[in-house]
Amino acid sequence: MLVVMDAHATVEQIEVVCAEIRAMGYTPHPMPGPTRTAIGITGNRGAIEQAARLLRLPGVADLIRVTAPYKLVSREFHEVDTVVRVGGVPIGGPGVTIVAGPCTVESLEQTLNVAKAVKAAGATILRGGAFKPRTSPYAFQGLGEAGLKILAEARAATGLPVVTEVMEVEALPLVLEYADMLQIGARNMQNYPLLRAVGRVRRPVLLKRGFAATLQDLLLAAEYILNEGNPDVVLCERGIRTFDDSRRFTLDLGAVPLIKQLSHLPVIVDPSHASGRWDQVQPMARAAVAAGADGLIVEVHDNPAFAVCDGHQSLVPARFAAMMEQVRRIAEALDRPLTT
Ligand code: PEP
Ligand code: MN
Repeated sequence: MLVVMDAHATVEQIEVVCAEIRAMGYTPHPMPGPTRTAIGITGNRGAIEQAARLLRLPGVADLIRVTAPYKLVSREFHEVDTVVRVGGVPIGGPGVTIVAGPCTVESLEQTLNVAKAVKAAGATILRGGAFKPRTSPYAFQGLGEAGLKILAEARAATGLPVVTEVMEVEALPLVLEYADMLQIGARNMQNYPLLRAVGRVRRPVLLKRGFAATLQDLLLAAEYILNEGNPDVVLCERGIRTFDDSRRFTLDLGAVPLIKQLSHLPVIVDPSHASGRWDQVQPMARAAVAAGADGLIVEVHDNPAFAVCDGHQSLVPARFAAMMEQVRRIAEALDRPLTT
Protein backbone atom coordinates (compact mmCIF):
# COMPACT_ATOMS: atom_id res chain seq x y z
CA MET A 1 0.00 0.00 0.00
CA LEU A 2 1.13 3.50 -0.83
CA VAL A 3 -0.25 6.57 0.92
CA VAL A 4 -0.04 9.55 -1.42
CA MET A 5 0.05 12.87 0.43
CA ASP A 6 -1.21 15.98 -1.27
CA ALA A 7 1.30 18.44 -2.62
CA HIS A 8 0.83 20.85 0.29
CA ALA A 9 0.94 18.30 3.11
CA THR A 10 3.02 19.51 6.06
CA VAL A 11 5.84 17.67 7.80
CA GLU A 12 3.55 17.28 10.82
CA GLN A 13 0.77 15.72 8.75
CA ILE A 14 3.25 13.24 7.28
CA GLU A 15 4.43 12.35 10.78
CA VAL A 16 0.84 11.78 11.95
CA VAL A 17 0.27 9.34 9.06
CA CYS A 18 3.53 7.51 9.89
CA ALA A 19 2.50 7.24 13.54
CA GLU A 20 -0.89 5.86 12.54
CA ILE A 21 0.77 3.25 10.30
CA ARG A 22 3.00 2.21 13.20
CA ALA A 23 -0.03 2.02 15.49
CA MET A 24 -1.60 -0.38 12.97
CA GLY A 25 1.46 -2.62 13.39
CA TYR A 26 3.16 -1.85 10.06
CA THR A 27 6.30 0.00 8.96
CA PRO A 28 6.02 3.39 7.21
CA HIS A 29 8.58 4.44 4.57
CA PRO A 30 8.18 8.16 3.79
CA MET A 31 9.48 8.94 0.30
CA PRO A 32 9.68 12.62 -0.60
CA GLY A 33 9.12 13.10 -4.33
CA PRO A 34 9.55 16.10 -6.63
CA THR A 35 5.96 17.25 -6.17
CA ARG A 36 4.60 15.29 -3.20
CA THR A 37 5.51 12.78 -0.54
CA ALA A 38 4.35 9.19 -0.68
CA ILE A 39 4.50 6.84 2.28
CA GLY A 40 5.03 3.16 1.55
CA ILE A 41 3.75 0.55 3.96
CA THR A 42 5.49 -2.78 4.58
CA GLY A 43 4.98 -5.47 7.18
CA ASN A 44 1.48 -6.41 6.07
CA ARG A 45 0.58 -9.87 4.82
CA GLY A 46 -2.24 -9.35 2.37
CA ALA A 47 -4.57 -6.39 2.26
CA ILE A 48 -4.35 -3.74 4.95
CA GLU A 49 -7.46 -3.77 7.08
CA GLN A 50 -8.78 -0.41 8.17
CA ALA A 51 -6.84 1.34 5.38
CA ALA A 52 -9.71 3.81 5.26
CA ARG A 53 -8.49 5.12 8.65
CA LEU A 54 -5.52 6.59 6.79
CA LEU A 55 -7.67 8.22 4.12
CA ARG A 56 -9.38 10.33 6.76
CA LEU A 57 -6.15 11.87 8.08
CA PRO A 58 -5.38 15.48 7.06
CA GLY A 59 -3.06 15.83 4.09
CA VAL A 60 -3.76 12.36 2.65
CA ALA A 61 -4.74 12.51 -1.04
CA ASP A 62 -5.03 8.85 -2.03
CA LEU A 63 -4.29 5.24 -1.17
CA ILE A 64 -2.80 3.05 -3.87
CA ARG A 65 -2.65 -0.73 -3.58
CA VAL A 66 0.76 -2.08 -4.59
CA THR A 67 0.05 -5.36 -6.27
CA ALA A 68 3.63 -6.54 -6.81
CA PRO A 69 5.02 -8.72 -3.98
CA TYR A 70 8.12 -6.52 -3.80
CA LYS A 71 7.64 -3.08 -2.34
CA LEU A 72 10.77 -1.08 -1.50
CA VAL A 73 12.43 -1.87 -4.82
CA SER A 74 9.31 -1.06 -6.86
CA ARG A 75 8.79 1.95 -9.08
CA GLU A 76 5.40 2.35 -7.42
CA PHE A 77 7.09 2.95 -4.07
CA HIS A 78 9.84 5.15 -5.44
CA GLU A 79 9.29 6.98 -8.69
CA VAL A 80 12.70 8.48 -9.40
CA ASP A 81 15.75 6.48 -10.46
CA THR A 82 18.07 5.54 -7.62
CA VAL A 83 21.71 6.51 -8.05
CA VAL A 84 24.14 4.29 -6.15
CA ARG A 85 27.56 5.77 -5.33
CA VAL A 86 30.52 3.43 -5.26
CA GLY A 87 33.46 5.22 -3.70
CA GLY A 88 32.10 8.41 -5.29
CA VAL A 89 31.38 6.88 -8.70
CA PRO A 90 27.66 6.95 -9.60
CA ILE A 91 25.79 3.98 -11.05
CA GLY A 92 22.32 4.93 -12.30
CA GLY A 93 21.05 8.35 -13.25
CA PRO A 94 22.05 10.05 -16.49
CA GLY A 95 25.41 8.37 -17.09
CA VAL A 96 26.58 4.89 -18.11
CA THR A 97 29.21 3.42 -15.79
CA ILE A 98 31.73 0.81 -16.85
CA VAL A 99 33.12 -1.72 -14.37
CA ALA A 100 35.99 -3.84 -15.65
CA GLY A 101 38.81 -6.05 -14.48
CA PRO A 102 39.93 -9.64 -14.26
CA CYS A 103 37.58 -12.46 -13.34
CA THR A 104 39.88 -13.32 -10.50
CA VAL A 105 42.83 -11.66 -8.84
CA GLU A 106 45.84 -13.81 -9.74
CA SER A 107 48.80 -11.62 -8.76
CA LEU A 108 49.66 -8.02 -8.00
CA GLU A 109 51.31 -7.62 -11.39
CA GLN A 110 48.31 -8.99 -13.34
CA THR A 111 45.80 -6.95 -11.34
CA LEU A 112 47.78 -3.71 -11.68
CA ASN A 113 48.30 -4.24 -15.41
CA VAL A 114 44.61 -4.81 -16.01
CA ALA A 115 43.51 -2.03 -13.64
CA LYS A 116 45.71 0.54 -15.37
CA ALA A 117 44.58 -0.61 -18.81
CA VAL A 118 40.86 -0.49 -18.05
CA LYS A 119 41.23 2.88 -16.37
CA ALA A 120 43.06 4.26 -19.42
CA ALA A 121 40.19 3.01 -21.60
CA GLY A 122 37.58 4.75 -19.43
CA ALA A 123 36.39 2.23 -16.83
CA THR A 124 35.68 3.87 -13.48
CA ILE A 125 35.29 0.85 -11.17
CA LEU A 126 37.62 -2.16 -10.91
CA ARG A 127 36.26 -5.69 -10.59
CA GLY A 128 38.16 -8.76 -9.40
CA GLY A 129 37.32 -11.86 -7.41
CA ALA A 130 39.23 -12.97 -4.33
CA PHE A 131 36.62 -15.54 -3.29
CA LYS A 132 35.46 -17.41 -6.38
CA PRO A 133 32.29 -19.50 -6.67
CA ARG A 134 33.55 -22.29 -8.92
CA THR A 135 31.40 -24.98 -10.46
CA SER A 136 34.06 -27.56 -9.64
CA PRO A 137 35.55 -27.95 -6.16
CA TYR A 138 38.87 -28.78 -7.84
CA ALA A 139 39.06 -25.43 -9.67
CA PHE A 140 41.02 -22.45 -8.31
CA GLN A 141 38.95 -20.93 -5.51
CA GLY A 142 40.55 -17.47 -5.33
CA LEU A 143 43.41 -15.94 -3.34
CA GLY A 144 41.19 -14.99 -0.40
CA GLU A 145 42.49 -12.17 1.80
CA ALA A 146 45.71 -11.94 -0.22
CA GLY A 147 43.51 -11.15 -3.22
CA LEU A 148 41.63 -8.47 -1.30
CA LYS A 149 44.96 -6.85 -0.38
CA ILE A 150 45.99 -6.82 -4.03
CA LEU A 151 42.69 -5.14 -4.95
CA ALA A 152 43.36 -2.49 -2.30
CA GLU A 153 46.81 -1.91 -3.82
CA ALA A 154 45.30 -1.57 -7.28
CA ARG A 155 42.80 0.95 -5.91
CA ALA A 156 45.62 2.93 -4.31
CA ALA A 157 47.58 2.90 -7.57
CA THR A 158 44.71 3.85 -9.88
CA GLY A 159 42.09 5.55 -7.71
CA LEU A 160 39.46 3.09 -8.99
CA PRO A 161 37.00 1.85 -6.35
CA VAL A 162 36.71 -1.95 -6.26
CA VAL A 163 33.85 -4.43 -6.39
CA THR A 164 34.50 -7.97 -5.22
CA GLU A 165 32.36 -10.96 -4.33
CA VAL A 166 31.40 -11.99 -0.83
CA MET A 167 30.31 -15.62 -0.84
CA GLU A 168 29.31 -16.25 2.75
CA VAL A 169 28.10 -14.38 5.80
CA GLU A 170 31.20 -15.34 7.80
CA ALA A 171 33.49 -13.61 5.28
CA LEU A 172 31.57 -10.33 5.25
CA PRO A 173 33.58 -8.50 7.96
CA LEU A 174 36.82 -9.29 6.10
CA VAL A 175 35.50 -8.27 2.67
CA LEU A 176 34.11 -5.05 4.17
CA GLU A 177 37.65 -4.06 5.14
CA TYR A 178 38.61 -3.88 1.46
CA ALA A 179 35.60 -3.62 -0.86
CA ASP A 180 33.89 -0.42 -2.03
CA MET A 181 31.04 -2.56 -3.36
CA LEU A 182 29.95 -6.07 -2.38
CA GLN A 183 29.13 -8.47 -5.17
CA ILE A 184 26.53 -11.17 -4.58
CA GLY A 185 27.09 -13.76 -7.29
CA ALA A 186 24.45 -15.46 -9.40
CA ARG A 187 24.77 -18.65 -7.37
CA ASN A 188 24.09 -16.79 -4.15
CA MET A 189 21.22 -14.60 -5.35
CA GLN A 190 18.81 -16.56 -3.17
CA ASN A 191 21.12 -17.03 -0.19
CA TYR A 192 18.75 -15.22 2.13
CA PRO A 193 21.01 -15.07 5.23
CA LEU A 194 23.70 -13.48 3.03
CA LEU A 195 21.21 -11.01 1.52
CA ARG A 196 20.08 -10.02 5.01
CA ALA A 197 23.68 -9.64 6.16
CA VAL A 198 24.63 -7.26 3.33
CA GLY A 199 21.34 -5.46 3.96
CA ARG A 200 22.49 -4.61 7.46
CA VAL A 201 25.66 -2.81 6.36
CA ARG A 202 25.96 0.49 4.55
CA ARG A 203 27.99 -0.58 1.52
CA PRO A 204 26.68 -0.69 -2.06
CA VAL A 205 25.72 -4.15 -3.29
CA LEU A 206 25.95 -5.56 -6.82
CA LEU A 207 23.27 -8.25 -6.98
CA LYS A 208 23.67 -10.63 -9.93
CA ARG A 209 20.65 -12.44 -11.30
CA GLY A 210 20.65 -16.17 -10.62
CA PHE A 211 20.76 -18.06 -13.88
CA ALA A 212 17.46 -19.79 -13.13
CA ALA A 213 15.85 -16.80 -11.47
CA THR A 214 12.83 -14.94 -12.79
CA LEU A 215 12.83 -11.16 -12.64
CA GLN A 216 10.42 -11.40 -9.75
CA ASP A 217 12.90 -13.65 -7.91
CA LEU A 218 15.63 -11.07 -8.57
CA LEU A 219 13.52 -8.15 -7.36
CA LEU A 220 12.47 -10.05 -4.24
CA ALA A 221 16.12 -10.85 -3.52
CA ALA A 222 16.88 -7.12 -3.74
CA GLU A 223 13.89 -6.49 -1.48
CA TYR A 224 15.62 -8.55 1.24
CA ILE A 225 18.56 -6.14 1.14
CA LEU A 226 16.50 -2.94 1.14
CA ASN A 227 14.22 -4.32 3.82
CA GLU A 228 17.21 -4.59 6.18
CA GLY A 229 17.99 -0.91 5.63
CA ASN A 230 20.57 -0.85 2.83
CA PRO A 231 19.14 1.16 -0.11
CA ASP A 232 22.22 0.92 -2.35
CA VAL A 233 21.60 -2.05 -4.63
CA VAL A 234 22.57 -2.37 -8.29
CA LEU A 235 20.98 -5.24 -10.24
CA CYS A 236 22.92 -7.19 -12.85
CA GLU A 237 21.64 -9.25 -15.77
CA ARG A 238 24.36 -11.84 -16.47
CA GLY A 239 22.64 -14.44 -18.64
CA ILE A 240 20.26 -17.26 -17.80
CA ARG A 241 20.08 -20.95 -18.61
CA THR A 242 17.94 -21.83 -21.62
CA PHE A 243 17.54 -24.83 -23.92
CA ASP A 244 20.24 -23.41 -26.17
CA ASP A 245 23.68 -24.69 -25.24
CA SER A 246 25.57 -22.95 -28.04
CA ARG A 247 26.77 -20.45 -25.41
CA ARG A 248 27.20 -20.93 -21.69
CA PHE A 249 24.15 -18.78 -20.88
CA THR A 250 21.63 -16.69 -22.83
CA LEU A 251 21.69 -12.94 -22.24
CA ASP A 252 18.18 -11.79 -21.39
CA LEU A 253 18.42 -8.23 -22.67
CA GLY A 254 14.69 -7.68 -22.50
CA ALA A 255 15.14 -7.82 -18.73
CA VAL A 256 16.81 -4.40 -18.82
CA PRO A 257 13.89 -2.21 -19.95
CA LEU A 258 11.44 -4.34 -17.98
CA ILE A 259 13.36 -4.06 -14.70
CA LYS A 260 13.63 -0.32 -15.27
CA GLN A 261 9.84 -0.16 -15.54
CA LEU A 262 9.28 -2.26 -12.45
CA SER A 263 12.04 -0.87 -10.24
CA HIS A 264 13.94 2.33 -9.50
CA LEU A 265 17.20 0.45 -8.93
CA PRO A 266 20.05 0.77 -11.46
CA VAL A 267 20.59 -2.17 -13.82
CA ILE A 268 23.89 -3.17 -15.37
CA VAL A 269 24.74 -6.00 -17.77
CA ASP A 270 27.56 -8.54 -17.67
CA PRO A 271 28.23 -9.49 -21.31
CA SER A 272 31.18 -11.69 -20.28
CA HIS A 273 29.49 -14.35 -18.16
CA ALA A 274 26.36 -14.07 -20.29
CA SER A 275 28.00 -15.82 -23.22
CA GLY A 276 31.23 -17.25 -21.90
CA ARG A 277 32.87 -16.24 -25.20
CA TRP A 278 35.07 -13.23 -25.75
CA ASP A 279 33.80 -12.75 -29.31
CA GLN A 280 30.26 -12.13 -28.00
CA VAL A 281 31.29 -9.54 -25.44
CA GLN A 282 31.64 -6.52 -27.70
CA PRO A 283 28.33 -6.93 -29.60
CA MET A 284 26.39 -7.72 -26.42
CA ALA A 285 27.97 -4.76 -24.62
CA ARG A 286 26.80 -2.48 -27.42
CA ALA A 287 23.31 -3.99 -27.32
CA ALA A 288 23.08 -3.68 -23.54
CA VAL A 289 23.82 0.03 -23.60
CA ALA A 290 21.38 0.47 -26.49
CA ALA A 291 18.74 -1.34 -24.39
CA GLY A 292 19.14 1.20 -21.61
CA ALA A 293 21.55 -0.46 -19.18
CA ASP A 294 23.05 1.89 -16.60
CA GLY A 295 26.41 0.23 -17.01
CA LEU A 296 28.43 -2.84 -17.86
CA ILE A 297 30.68 -5.20 -15.95
CA VAL A 298 33.30 -6.69 -18.25
CA GLU A 299 36.11 -9.20 -17.71
CA VAL A 300 39.52 -8.11 -19.01
CA HIS A 301 42.80 -10.01 -18.81
CA ASP A 302 46.26 -9.07 -20.02
CA ASN A 303 46.97 -12.65 -21.08
CA PRO A 304 43.68 -14.56 -21.42
CA ALA A 305 45.28 -17.75 -22.70
CA PHE A 306 46.96 -18.11 -19.33
CA ALA A 307 44.08 -16.80 -17.18
CA VAL A 308 43.35 -18.94 -14.15
CA CYS A 309 39.62 -18.37 -14.57
CA ASP A 310 37.29 -17.35 -17.43
CA GLY A 311 40.07 -16.61 -19.95
CA HIS A 312 37.84 -17.66 -22.87
CA GLN A 313 35.43 -14.81 -22.11
CA SER A 314 38.02 -12.17 -21.18
CA LEU A 315 38.92 -9.30 -23.49
CA VAL A 316 42.51 -8.22 -23.98
CA PRO A 317 42.99 -4.55 -23.07
CA ALA A 318 43.12 -3.38 -26.71
CA ARG A 319 39.80 -5.03 -27.50
CA PHE A 320 38.30 -3.60 -24.34
CA ALA A 321 39.42 -0.14 -25.42
CA ALA A 322 37.79 -0.67 -28.83
CA MET A 323 34.59 -1.79 -27.11
CA MET A 324 34.65 1.33 -24.95
CA GLU A 325 34.86 3.57 -28.01
CA GLN A 326 31.77 1.97 -29.56
CA VAL A 327 29.85 1.91 -26.31
CA ARG A 328 30.66 5.58 -25.72
CA ARG A 329 29.19 6.51 -29.09
CA ILE A 330 26.04 4.47 -28.51
CA ALA A 331 25.59 5.97 -25.03
CA GLU A 332 26.05 9.47 -26.42
CA ALA A 333 23.46 8.81 -29.12
CA LEU A 334 21.05 8.21 -26.22
CA ASP A 335 22.20 11.41 -24.46
CA ARG A 336 23.94 9.34 -21.82
CA PRO A 337 27.59 10.23 -21.28
CA LEU A 338 29.97 7.57 -19.99
CA THR A 339 30.70 8.23 -16.32
CA THR A 340 34.20 9.69 -15.96
C1 PEP B 1 31.91 -13.16 -11.57
O1 PEP B 1 31.45 -12.02 -11.72
O2 PEP B 1 33.12 -13.42 -11.61
C2 PEP B 1 30.96 -14.28 -11.40
C3 PEP B 1 31.35 -15.43 -10.85
O3 PEP B 1 29.73 -14.00 -11.86
P1 PEP B 1 28.35 -14.82 -11.71
O4 PEP B 1 28.06 -14.89 -10.23
O5 PEP B 1 27.39 -13.98 -12.47
O6 PEP B 1 28.56 -16.17 -12.32
MN1 MN C 1 34.32 -14.72 -14.12
